[in-house]
Amino acid sequence: MAQFKTLDDLGDIAGKVALVRVDLNLPMKDGRATDLTRVKAVAPTILELSDKGAKVLLLAHFGRPKGMRHSTLSTSFVQDDVEDVLGKEVMFISEVGGPVVEQSIGILRNGDIGLLDNVRFWPGEEANDSEFARAMAEHADLYVNDAFSAAHRAHASTEGLAHLLPAYAGRAMEAELKALDAALGSPETPVAAVVGGAKVSTKLAVLENLVHKVQHLIIGGGMANTFLAARGVNVGKSLCEHDLTDTANAIMDAADQAGCTVHLPYDVVVAKEFAANPPSKRVCNVHEVGADEMILDIGPLAVEALADVLKTCRTLVWNGPLGAFETEPFDEATVALAKTAAALTQDGSLISVAGGGDTVAALAHAGVESEFTYVSTAGGAFLEWMEGKTLPGVAALKG
Ligand code: ADP
Ligand code: MG
Repeated sequence: MAQFKTLDDLGDIAGKVALVRVDLNLPMKDGRATDLTRVKAVAPTILELSDKGAKVLLLAHFGRPKGMRHSTLSTSFVQDDVEDVLGKEVMFISEVGGPVVEQSIGILRNGDIGLLDNVRFWPGEEANDSEFARAMAEHADLYVNDAFSAAHRAHASTEGLAHLLPAYAGRAMEAELKALDAALGSPETPVAAVVGGAKVSTKLAVLENLVHKVQHLIIGGGMANTFLAARGVNVGKSLCEHDLTDTANAIMDAADQAGCTVHLPYDVVVAKEFAANPPSKRVCNVHEVGADEMILDIGPLAVEALADVLKTCRTLVWNGPLGAFETEPFDEATVALAKTAAALTQDGSLISVAGGGDTVAALAHAGVESEFTYVSTAGGAFLEWMEGKTLPGVAALKG
């Protein structure tokens, strides 16, 4: 992994102005944040810089104001939440550059924290305009990026600034990059990938990348139906992208050539209606799915076989649930395999890295979120990383 600087490389920063890109795009309801995970993730970086005596300016986007000031999308809405998590006062600053920022820096004492307004109020942000980036950099001495979740965007605050100021990865960014590198960059082998979720079409690039990176590709969820159909299985009324069967076959061929074993389920859980605990629910071999049935989870034999695969592996990356886990009992396979992966991780035989919106929810539902080596909440950036793409915000940190 090409090197990037971390907070360990800072030296004496007392009195210096640190511009810190964080993710404060919190889920909101009735004007209050409903989940503070993102604030908690960046708190160690903010507090470390503050403890070292820097004047810390937080830089973040909030919603999609599309380059215009929008009264309902000011970062001032999350000021209280940030103060609560940090246990410190935060000064709101209604600009991201110019005289208002300069004057505010004059008021801040060493170790104080300022919160700049929504960087996406200015069109230069998403355009990665160099003049806009320079205006933000003008009064700062250093730049810290702690927002991995925004690193797949080449915006002024995520990419441009890294070229204008001494640039460092914050603690959350550092942890994320180390975990991801351990999973697919220079992993201990054999590596297994679980790819599940609803549709092949949303994860084609992920699958195409993984066949060259992993020894075992485990396919579950709705997308397994498309692969089964490609192998001639009648999947009944299951969610299935019949137009992608050629693509599925091409992925299986590429896997063969790369020495990657593709694991599809032998047995599945089917039902005639998609509801909680439907009376029509039954477990069957994949070749016995009725024309009026749909596959909603992979079966217990498949789960047992996959657990055996994980026992032979040293590294696991997981994106996408194995079944329609939001509806009982179609969460069973996901919960069971997640528990196996968690136990192997706790035993020290497996490095497990997972990510994806529904995947994080599924692991939390299984109660094993904290037992995986690393669970990424980064969403889009995590998927682009799984696709093997270079993330501009990360590349810029590596200079
Ligand atoms: P992530 O957000 O982790 O990337 P996805 O969004 O790709 O995951 O997929 C999650 C969705 O896939 C869930 O809503 C789940 O119900 C659905 N799903 C999984 N298996 C099936 C299935 N067999 N049939 C229909 N939907 C499924
Ligand atoms: Mg999803």
